[in-house]
Amino acid sequence: MDTFEEKVQAMKNMAPEDVQATVEKLKSMCTCPSCPSYNRCAKEGKELIFCSTGKSFMCISDEKRCICPACPVGKEMGLKYSFFCTRGAEKAQRYEHTVWGTKMV
Ligand code: SF4
Ligand code: SF4
Repeated sequence: MDTFEEKVQAMKNMAPEDVQATVEKLKSMCTCPSCPSYNRCAKEGKELIFCSTGKSFMCISDEKRCICPACPVGKEMGLKYSFFCTRGAEKAQRYEHTVWGTKMV
């Protein structure tokens, strides 16, 4: 089990209020608002932590650059992937990679 799987497992065993507190902490650490791909629509929709919540809801479709690899959440959660706002959450990209043996864009 790697860091990401351990974190997901740990969250499954948390009380709802602790999950909420963890989500808020991750949101405060998310560096997406400084990313060139992050746009006004995403900002107005308060979209954050795509690595956990998945693709942007009809705001981001243009992949300019992804600064996720430098985000502290990436290290804390043991993320392997990037461009979560356009390609889906870490969990989804891991699944696709397992099923197809390559990433789907
Ligand atoms: S890894 Fe990317 S999507 Fe996740 S919190 Fe950091 S900047 Fe946001
Ligand atoms: S997920 Fe990556 S590409 Fe998308 S806004 Fe966040 S840092 Fe930028």
